[in-house]
Amino acid sequence: MPIDNDNIDTVLRRVAEDIGDARALTVDQEGRWRGPPPTDPAAYHPGEDADEQAPFRVLISCLISLRTKDEVTGPATERLFKLADTPRAMAGLPAGTIAETIYPAGFYNQKGETIRRVSRRLVEDYGGRVPDTVEELVKLKGVGRKTANLVVTVGHGKPGICVDTHVHRIFNRWGYVATRNPDQTEKALREKLPRRWWIPVNSMLVVFGRERCQPVSPHCSSCPLVGDCPRLGVEHSR
Ligand code: SF4
Repeated sequence: MPIDNDNIDTVLRRVAEDIGDARALTVDQEGRWRGPPPTDPAAYHPGEDADEQAPFRVLISCLISLRTKDEVTGPATERLFKLADTPRAMAGLPAGTIAETIYPAGFYNQKGETIRRVSRRLVEDYGGRVPDTVEELVKLKGVGRKTANLVVTVGHGKPGICVDTHVHRIFNRWGYVATRNPDQTEKALREKLPRRWWIPVNSMLVVFGRERCQPVSPHCSSCPLVGDCPRLGVEHSR
């Protein structure tokens, strides 16, 4: 049987326990929890103590993180924010300086151009502020829906669902959605997933997807969901 809204609360709580995410067990109805903004965008938890720079930091960190390991993204973001921590300051840096600073992030030259261009747009068209809607954010060239949702949820603490490959794969394996790409999954989840899970679900399933429900040969035999999960599309497991 597919996992559905009858048991999604139980399933996601078991995921949180499995990955040791105690904060996910304390989410309120709006999906808010406390936590400092870390440097890894996938690990961000929106909280009351999130600072004013959080949306810009999440945005830049996401742009750096494309095809780059978390261990590189976090320090690269920190180095860059020591040079410029606002869109206005960032727009004043040469693209080459941004590229040198974020090296060895993948495609650092291209990302240097993108970060400068996005920062300039924020200054010219948005008064130096980062928009808080997916619709506005995706107008920025280089910003996709995944990044936009992460900025809205984690940066601004507003409702949105960030769907990456882990979230897309796992919800389809559960049979909770039947979709072909992350954008379709985001749309389906917006219609179905209880709102309290919208913000935390990304960081939970990123960890669960890396440690338990991997793309190839997931660890089903020791998974706490094995009795409930239909394991759709799983051909080999451990
Ligand atoms: S039982 Fe297997 S496919 Fe289902 S969630 Fe667990 S690891 Fe993933």
